[in-house]
Amino acid sequence: MKNKSILVTAPSGAGKTTLVKKLLEEFPDFQFSISATTRDARSNEIDGKDYFFITNEDFEHKIAQDAFLEWEEVYNGTKYGTLKSEVEKIWDNKHIVIFDIDIMGALKLKKLMCQDILSVFIAPPKFEVLEERLRSRKTETEEKIQTRINKAKDEMKFHNFFDHKVVNDDIDEAYAKLKSLVVDYLG
Ligand code: 5GP
Repeated sequence: MKNKSILVTAPSGAGKTTLVKKLLEEFPDFQFSISATTRDARSNEIDGKDYFFITNEDFEHKIAQDAFLEWEEVYNGTKYGTLKSEVEKIWDNKHIVIFDIDIMGALKLKKLMCQDILSVFIAPPKFEVLEERLRSRKTETEEKIQTRINKAKDEMKFHNFFDHKVVNDDIDEAYAKLKSLVVDYLG
């Protein structure tokens, strides 16, 4: 089990966070890599659990300290980064790391990790469905929703760079497929 990782990536709104949460509930050996971000916490989010919510200044400081395995300005002015310290802590605990990160960051991470890594791209069924999902979250303004949709359209082109693609038409079916990939990977 040493140094195993599972990387789940997707265009925003494809449902990857729900799928990752389901994996974490079912597999006690898995631990979520908590990223740092400069965005504000949503009302249902907890600092140190969902993300480390930090200032732009702190984020820049961490970049200078080489504290990130990868980081991206995922949306204009909003940065997200995978902390080396998180991954090391998880491996030290003999757990398997789960990454839930954007596609550009995932491409970087996949290249960087010489270790064993399973990478899964979650695709939304149709853009209308993606749009509806983003809207139903009621956490973003209309402008932000449009930015996310345009970005998602571009990102769909990258699915071939990952080991597997799972289409999230139906959450239970998508989870069953993801789980079987994970079980195969763990041997
Ligand atoms: P949200 O703001 O909806 O939580 O996340 C926006 C996007 O940033 C999602 O696609 C999420 O997976 C991604 N993300 C979260 N943490 C990281 C990270 O550490 N690095 C990168 N590159 N993307 C991340």
